[in-house]
Amino acid sequence: MHNAAFNALGIDALYTARDVAPEDLTQVIKALRAPDVWGANVTVPHKRAVLAFMDDLSDAAKRIGAVNTIVNKNGYLYGDNTDAPGYLRALADANITLKDADAVLLGAGGAARAIVYALLTAGVKRLSIHNRTPEKAQALATEFSTLGNVQALPDEELTPRVHGADLLINSTSLGMSGLHEHLSPLPAGLLPYNGFVSDIVYVPARTKLLKDATLQGLATQNGLPMLIYQGAESFTRWTGQNAPIPIMFSAARTALESR
Ligand code: NAP
Repeated sequence: MHNAAFNALGIDALYTARDVAPEDLTQVIKALRAPDVWGANVTVPHKRAVLAFMDDLSDAAKRIGAVNTIVNKNGYLYGDNTDAPGYLRALADANITLKDADAVLLGAGGAARAIVYALLTAGVKRLSIHNRTPEKAQALATEFSTLGNVQALPDEELTPRVHGADLLINSTSLGMSGLHEHLSPLPAGLLPYNGFVSDIVYVPARTKLLKDATLQGLATQNGLPMLIYQGAESFTRWTGQNAPIPIMFSAARTALESR
């Protein structure tokens, strides 16, 4: 999607993927300081490890504790996190009002951190986090408690809280292509009565959770808009230009369909 965007805007740049072993991280980060490198995206498992290599960090990267975008400013590396604004832009696309919303987040892994930050800074009324390993939900809620009303959700409160949710988000890997594709993160039949259902998984395009929600007449969104908008935010930080969003969507869809 980045190369399609560069082509569309006539920008002479190339985006390539690199598989980086943890022991090579120091060397790879050093190479990012070269004058012809604008920056990088960082993904699992390095999003937290790269924090220590940055010369400066955005507030979001500091608070989330993870960097997904590095900008090279004349050899000076600035670490940012575009997952949070990317997710907010995705929800805005679906006309979701976050202010005073009652939100339930399933999962407490790496992606959940950016989502918690995004939702609390957007002013949700209450954010309840449920996770297979409850201690991780509790730790996440405690860590972000200064930003708003966020709490870990015990199993026995899951049903009423999901029923009443304005927004339900899946940030677990359940539903993702591969081992967990046929699974929903929620027990059979449990969905919000009226809320919006957001699944950040983007392969497959329709997870079991989203299919169940659609059958119940609920509005849904998959993880593709979040992926595109975090990329668009990175693109702007590197180039100083607005990203050509429709072109990035189209390139990403084509790539995903050809998998
Ligand atoms: P992660 O850090 O490994 O976290 C995985 C989460 O899934 C944890 O909460 C984990 O619970 C839960 N989980 C895993 N297997 C489970 C199972 N069998 N039953 C119940 N819960 C289970 O992964 P991540 O980086 O947060 O990514 C999570 C998902 O989000 C992936 O599907 C990824 O592709 C997607 N994602 C999408 C975007 C986007 O732009 N759309 C961005 C980032 C990630 P425990 O804590 O109990 O292990």
